[in-house]
Amino acid sequence: MTDQKSQLDRFKEAARELETDDDEERFNECLRGIVTPAKKVCPECGHVFKGNGWDGIDAHWRSKHEDVMSYEKVWPLLRAGRYH
Ligand SMILES: [Zn+2]
Repeated sequence: MTDQKSQLDRFKEAARELETDDDEERFNECLRGIVTPAKKVCPECGHVFKGNGWDGIDAHWRSKHEDVMSYEKVWPLLRAGRYH
Protein backbone atom coordinates (compact mmCIF):
# COMPACT_ATOMS: atom_id res chain seq x y z
CA MET A 1 0.00 0.00 0.00
CA THR A 2 3.00 2.29 0.28
CA ASP A 3 2.90 2.94 -3.48
CA GLN A 4 -0.68 4.10 -3.36
CA LYS A 5 0.08 6.36 -0.46
CA SER A 6 2.99 8.01 -2.20
CA GLN A 7 0.84 8.47 -5.28
CA LEU A 8 -1.69 10.27 -3.14
CA ASP A 9 1.08 12.37 -1.68
CA ARG A 10 2.29 13.29 -5.14
CA PHE A 11 -1.25 14.21 -6.09
CA LYS A 12 -1.56 16.40 -3.01
CA GLU A 13 1.75 18.03 -3.81
CA ALA A 14 0.63 18.73 -7.35
CA ALA A 15 -2.61 20.20 -6.05
CA ARG A 16 -0.70 22.40 -3.64
CA GLU A 17 1.53 23.60 -6.45
CA LEU A 18 -1.52 24.49 -8.53
CA GLU A 19 -2.95 26.44 -5.62
CA THR A 20 0.32 28.28 -5.19
CA ASP A 21 0.32 29.20 -8.86
CA ASP A 22 -3.20 30.48 -8.46
CA ASP A 23 -2.24 32.66 -5.55
CA GLU A 24 0.74 33.98 -7.43
CA GLU A 25 -1.47 34.94 -10.32
CA ARG A 26 -3.88 36.71 -8.03
CA PHE A 27 -0.96 38.42 -6.34
CA ASN A 28 0.36 39.60 -9.69
CA GLU A 29 -3.07 40.89 -10.61
CA CYS A 30 -3.10 42.92 -7.41
CA LEU A 31 0.32 44.29 -8.23
CA ARG A 32 -0.83 45.25 -11.72
CA GLY A 33 -3.77 47.04 -10.16
CA ILE A 34 -1.43 49.12 -8.04
CA VAL A 35 0.93 49.84 -10.93
CA THR A 36 -1.86 50.79 -13.36
CA PRO A 37 -2.05 54.58 -13.43
CA ALA A 38 -5.24 56.28 -12.34
CA LYS A 39 -7.92 56.68 -14.98
CA LYS A 40 -8.07 60.01 -16.73
CA VAL A 41 -11.08 62.12 -15.94
CA CYS A 42 -12.54 64.87 -18.12
CA PRO A 43 -11.88 68.14 -16.25
CA GLU A 44 -15.06 69.67 -17.69
CA CYS A 45 -17.70 67.07 -16.81
CA GLY A 46 -15.94 64.36 -14.78
CA HIS A 47 -16.36 61.72 -17.48
CA VAL A 48 -13.98 58.81 -16.76
CA PHE A 49 -12.10 57.49 -19.78
CA LYS A 50 -12.19 53.72 -19.63
CA GLY A 51 -9.38 53.04 -22.07
CA ASN A 52 -5.67 53.64 -21.63
CA GLY A 53 -4.89 57.19 -20.58
CA TRP A 54 -6.76 59.71 -22.67
CA ASP A 55 -8.21 57.21 -25.17
CA GLY A 56 -11.46 58.70 -26.44
CA ILE A 57 -10.86 62.28 -25.29
CA ASP A 58 -10.74 63.39 -28.93
CA ALA A 59 -14.29 62.32 -29.75
CA HIS A 60 -15.58 63.17 -26.27
CA TRP A 61 -14.23 66.71 -26.26
CA ARG A 62 -15.31 67.46 -29.80
CA SER A 63 -18.88 66.34 -29.13
CA LYS A 64 -19.31 67.87 -25.64
CA HIS A 65 -16.92 70.72 -24.96
CA GLU A 66 -15.80 72.05 -28.31
CA ASP A 67 -17.64 75.30 -27.44
CA VAL A 68 -15.56 75.74 -24.25
CA MET A 69 -12.23 75.43 -26.02
CA SER A 70 -11.19 73.77 -29.25
CA TYR A 71 -9.75 70.29 -28.90
CA GLU A 72 -6.54 71.37 -30.61
CA LYS A 73 -5.97 73.96 -27.88
CA VAL A 74 -7.08 71.82 -24.97
CA TRP A 75 -5.20 68.63 -25.83
CA PRO A 76 -1.65 69.90 -25.08
CA LEU A 77 -2.91 71.27 -21.75
CA LEU A 78 -4.66 68.03 -20.82
CA ARG A 79 -1.64 65.95 -21.74
CA ALA A 80 0.59 68.16 -19.59
CA GLY A 81 -1.95 68.07 -16.75
CA ARG A 82 -2.34 71.84 -16.90
CA TYR A 83 -6.01 72.10 -17.74
CA HIS A 84 -8.13 72.77 -14.66
ZN1 LIG B 1 -16.32 65.97 -20.61
